[in-house]
Amino acid sequence: MNNKVKPYDYLIVGAGLFGATFAHEMYKRDKKCLVIDKRNHIGGNIYCQNWDGINVHMYGAHIFHTNDEAIWKYVNAFTSFNRYTNSPLAMYNGRLYNLPFNMNTFQQLWGVTTPEAARAKIEQQVNAINIKRPRNLEEQALSLVGYDIYYSFIKEYTKKQWGKDARELPPEIIKRIPVRFTYDNNYFNDLYQGIPIGGYNRLSEGLLAEKEVRLNINYISNQIMLDDMAEKVVYTGMLDELFDYKLGKLEYRSLHFDHERLEVANYQGNAVVNYTEAHVPYTRIIEHKHFEFGNQNHTIITREYPVTFSNSKETEPYYPINDDKNNRLYKKYKELANGRTNLIIGGRLGDYRYYDMHQVIASALTVVKKEEMKW
Ligand code: UDP
Repeated sequence: MNNKVKPYDYLIVGAGLFGATFAHEMYKRDKKCLVIDKRNHIGGNIYCQNWDGINVHMYGAHIFHTNDEAIWKYVNAFTSFNRYTNSPLAMYNGRLYNLPFNMNTFQQLWGVTTPEAARAKIEQQVNAINIKRPRNLEEQALSLVGYDIYYSFIKEYTKKQWGKDARELPPEIIKRIPVRFTYDNNYFNDLYQGIPIGGYNRLSEGLLAEKEVRLNINYISNQIMLDDMAEKVVYTGMLDELFDYKLGKLEYRSLHFDHERLEVANYQGNAVVNYTEAHVPYTRIIEHKHFEFGNQNHTIITREYPVTFSNSKETEPYYPINDDKNNRLYKKYKELANGRTNLIIGGRLGDYRYYDMHQVIASALTVVKKEEMKW
């Protein structure tokens, strides 16, 4: 039994949004925290690099949105947000369509101009399929928007994105996208939305200002030594890796980002264009300057290629694949984690949940409150 006083109250593994929020809150409560990250930067996947004035979202496009006023106030304490509203386009068969599925999309697809006509079109298709209780993503999509939209915009994109047929994926994934009978291209229904003015690093730098952060440290390979440094460990990485995959591997989907600088001022006229067909190997092209209304003479675009995650160094676990099999396995890992009283789990990887940024922050604040109750 090691009784010596440990130098830190919390060792926080991962300097992403969960770890940074937790550290920020614990610092306010006079707790000693050490934040480590295996990468050479803070911010996890919201990290941006400034390429000649353009903030490049290095791990995929991030658009902050929330319905929770408290979370909105929380992030605005670190940086102001601009008025960016996400309104992606979908490229299908050589034509562009508005997303999310709304009156603009219905008009572009079917030529209908009134909500009544659009509803009738969708209802006729939904009734023809007659799915009572959707059991997977395909059934959910078909029963929400009918087969024209499903086959044009969802089926092939989903297969590309997840590496699995839509019939093997949970219905919840598609419920992220609104369906509206108004001419409103806002991808989100939330009250608050925007991009941090000056980029996302402002947010992570704000959260971690004056905190002790050490980069390029791999927790898994230095676990014994690191565990000795703090009373508790807050772990935001992959839970299966933490337990040396002893119950089997959880599945994740990865991405490959192909960033390119172009000497044109405006490449695609929009921040996000999705490519919904199977024959295009990437799912979307991001043009970063449009997130911040940049007026540079050059531009940076990123093609997003979904790839298999393979526990190798070249791929990163970006998306949990929350089907029943993986969720069951995760639950078993979580039980192992719960058995360790000095271990706290959090974040998209730790919780194995398809969180958005605001949900990560909210869950970190909840965990902090739970910790506080134990003091
Ligand atoms: N999706 C689709 N076609 C699109 C956009 C999204 O089929 O043009 C489906 C796809 O299954 C995707 C899911 O909707 O994984 C959620 O999309 P979202 O834009 O929320 O994905 P993220 O930005 O988190 O990758």
